[in-house]
Amino acid sequence: MQCNDHHLFTKTIFVYEQQITYFTMCQVDEDYHDGLDRAEVPSVFKKCVKCKEASAAVVIRAGDTFCRDCFKEYFIHKFRAMLGKNRIIFPGDKVLLAVSGGSSSCSMLSQVQEGLSQNAHKKLRFLPGIVYIDEGGVVGQSVDERVRTVAELQAVFRATGFPFYVVPLEQVLDLPSSVVVMAPSSSEQPASAYKEAVDQFLKSNSGSCLNPKDQDPTSLPVVPEAHTQFLQQLIVSAKTLTARHDLLNTLRQHLLVHTARTEGYRKVMLGDNCTRLAIKLLTSISLGRGAQLAQDTGFSDSRYGDIILVRPMRDYSAKEIAYYNHLFNVVSVFIPSLDTKTTEKASIQRLTESFVTKLQVDFPSTVSTIYRTSEKLQTACGSSSTDDSSDRCLLCVCTLDTSGENSSSFQATLTSEQLSQTKYPARTKTDRLHPAPVELESSVPSGSCCSSGGGEDCGEVESGEGCCSSKEPEKTNLKTLLCYSCHLTIKDMSSVEHLPQYILLEAQRRKRRSKMREEISEFLLDDGEGGN
Ligand SMILES: [Zn+2]
Ligand SMILES: [Zn+2]
Repeated sequence: MQCNDHHLFTKTIFVYEQQITYFTMCQVDEDYHDGLDRAEVPSVFKKCVKCKEASAAVVIRAGDTFCRDCFKEYFIHKFRAMLGKNRIIFPGDKVLLAVSGGSSSCSMLSQVQEGLSQNAHKKLRFLPGIVYIDEGGVVGQSVDERVRTVAELQAVFRATGFPFYVVPLEQVLDLPSSVVVMAPSSSEQPASAYKEAVDQFLKSNSGSCLNPKDQDPTSLPVVPEAHTQFLQQLIVSAKTLTARHDLLNTLRQHLLVHTARTEGYRKVMLGDNCTRLAIKLLTSISLGRGAQLAQDTGFSDSRYGDIILVRPMRDYSAKEIAYYNHLFNVVSVFIPSLDTKTTEKASIQRLTESFVTKLQVDFPSTVSTIYRTSEKLQTACGSSSTDDSSDRCLLCVCTLDTSGENSSSFQATLTSEQLSQTKYPARTKTDRLHPAPVELESSVPSGSCCSSGGGEDCGEVESGEGCCSSKEPEKTNLKTLLCYSCHLTIKDMSSVEHLPQYILLEAQRRKRRSKMREEISEFLLDDGEGGN
């Protein structure tokens, strides 16, 4: 008797669950736990909270049920509102959409299409292009698989009518050093200029002058196998998956910025959603990127000066995007990543992701709480307006966080490194420009190493000659050019020689410059260090 009842109950729950699953797809537990507790009518029979007529098709949060049409309107409005609020994309701007093939960036692409097809006063007024960075070479895809993936994406891109660029990550090896130098921003445009630009745009082209179809690279540029191998070596030279992730992100961003510059785009749209950014925020903190948080996760990121990265999807949760893509047939393409087939403890990035997503299941406001925190950080550390490239990290191009306060984690690490490594005092002369350990300098055993020109040339990257401590100076040489976090990444690499030429050449240039500055420092009236 009891038993039968129980069976019946289980069966009911099963049917109930199926209904819920049908209507809300991958709905996380919290919603139907709610329903079960209250044992009331399933939310599938609820009305839409917006129009209060149609029955609900989507449950975003407990209590927020939308019908199909209202959900679409809500979703589209959110995109335009995000762009309208920030006023960074000007009418007529050429905007490059970075599409990875994932659901978030594909959804972004569909929002741009949607926005351009709206009627006059709601219409988006910029000129989009698409870029896809093919990372197949470093995530273990065969040449055939890469060709297939690219073909799949090209079909999606071609259907939009926007110009698109398929760029193999291998092209990062051919980048110029200027990529890692902050370019002067082309005329700061005040907020008041926005309205003028709108009027100007409306006057000049009343129709739609979109779809410049002139560049349409229909086939994947041929990638020399040697380049793929070099790139693989570079990634593998990082000993931890955490560092590999970080390197890949850096290289990808350099290539995106370079593509934007060469193709004449001034803004790059990234598809980071709110869930992704919450994970990124916590990851960044764990990786020692506290000083760069605002730029790493904010709506706009102007570290490159002339090219501004924007994140218009930052208000959408991964769940909302999944619903939208499902309901409105937005195609995305599965692309393997460095994480594919790894355990959740394989890297800091991966661990943070599983932490946030698991917490989110039981505490649905996890992501939004973290995300709101990121918004508050914006004003705390704005971008400094220094033009001097030597103040910028060689890899992430953020303002160096290493020369500042004594209480930073960089200083703490430096101190502990000194304490543990006093036998390897491989300091370069240029290190003295920074608030470096006084004790260590004096404790250099002058004859312990094959005196490389009295330490004069140690600053040069190429002069890591077969010294007795060949690895040590090589690594520390880049140290003064990197932010704390990138320094940690490089420390995880077996050799910096695996880095692409454009980075090494720029490193040499900066080393030469700072050496020269040091040499003439006593003749300068206003020393950079004394000044501020
Ligand atoms: Zn409705
Ligand atoms: Zn950095």
